[in-house]
Amino acid sequence: MRITLVEDDDRVARGLATVLSQAGFDVHRVSTAAEALRAAPSDVVLVDLGLPDGDGLEVIRKLRDRPETAVIAVTARSEEHERVRGLRAGADDYIVKPFGVPELLARIDAVLRRTRAARALGHPEEPLVLGPMRISLGTREVTVDSLPVTLTRKEFALLHLLARRAPNVVSRDVILDQIWGATWESSSRTLDTHIAALRHKLGPAVVIRTIHGVGYRLLTDQLDC
Ligand code: CA
Repeated sequence: MRITLVEDDDRVARGLATVLSQAGFDVHRVSTAAEALRAAPSDVVLVDLGLPDGDGLEVIRKLRDRPETAVIAVTARSEEHERVRGLRAGADDYIVKPFGVPELLARIDAVLRRTRAARALGHPEEPLVLGPMRISLGTREVTVDSLPVTLTRKEFALLHLLARRAPNVVSRDVILDQIWGATWESSSRTLDTHIAALRHKLGPAVVIRTIHGVGYRLLTDQLDC
């Protein structure tokens, strides 16, 4: 299991590298945002938000296109709005310094379980099957309990994004950026409308939960957590 540690404080990085190696991880250390983005893919990336050559949030934003990588924001900024910014940028979880090793290992385990579940859903070209729901990207068909569900192009794109990341939270910013692109400033209300339409069309077997101040997560009876 490979971990990339993005931390500019050498003392902190050395300490973390030691405990993570002892826990059995293959640790790759970098100290700048640029190195983090050049690093080979990892199972987990721990990103310090305060980096000398740029904000760790920027690293998190760029890593969010790799759903197979779990991202944990590591920060000394304990204020709630900073944690929310980390999650909105696409982090799967965050941990506030100072933290204990058992907490760090527990959080890594938790995000790995979620990314493993996402990976077990298969190759992106294969249908995504989540509980009673089946989504075929090739034919753009969606069924719930084998019954077809008719979706608009945007509704399909939104559902596919939430399903790919399920059961992780997908932030509003990520959704607006990926589904509505450059015009997202005017689309925040549109997103709410599309979520409401999806909930109505998919029925009670598929739950799109609102995580206030962050975004949405998709759950089904077989993907509950
Ligand atoms: Ca730092």
